[in-house]
Amino acid sequence: MQQLAVKYDGYPWTTPFLENVLWLSIYVLGSIIFGLIGTWAAETYATYCVVSMYLLIPRFVCTYCSYFGRRCHSGQGRIAALLFAKRNDALFGTSFKCMRFAAPVFLAPLIAGITLWVFQFSWEILGMTVLFGILALYCTRVVTMRAGCPHCKQEAVCPAYAKAHRRQQ
Ligand code: SF4
Repeated sequence: MQQLAVKYDGYPWTTPFLENVLWLSIYVLGSIIFGLIGTWAAETYATYCVVSMYLLIPRFVCTYCSYFGRRCHSGQGRIAALLFAKRNDALFGTSFKCMRFAAPVFLAPLIAGITLWVFQFSWEILGMTVLFGILALYCTRVVTMRAGCPHCKQEAVCPAYAKAHRRQQ
């Protein structure tokens, strides 16, 4: 019988460290891809990464989470408590749609890379775009599904967990 994973009140520091190192590599590679369009595009993307991941999501999602003020799988719960007031946990399910703020972080460089590759083909652009896709769409999922979700106390109210679980059934 499959053993249930321990649910963490606070994650070991290695989990948010690993997740943020992975995110940092995504921000940097994404900025390099946008840098091929222009410095302004790289700076805009990099700024959006910081604002969405460390301000918008902590404000509009993490303030409704039971990990508010505690070390969660990404560390955003701690950031939220440093910057914002706690909000009603019961609204977590509806607030979760604001996770969409993160979509451009993980998708925009991929779209930019494919577009650049179509209009000015080079193996370098192709290589960077494929690597970005692996990091942003595969590695992030592996880290979340292996190190994050199995130990998360939010699973009962988390729309992403419910969706992933429905997909497995
Ligand atoms: S578990 Fe998710 S929603 Fe909760 S504080 Fe951490 S990042 Fe925010």
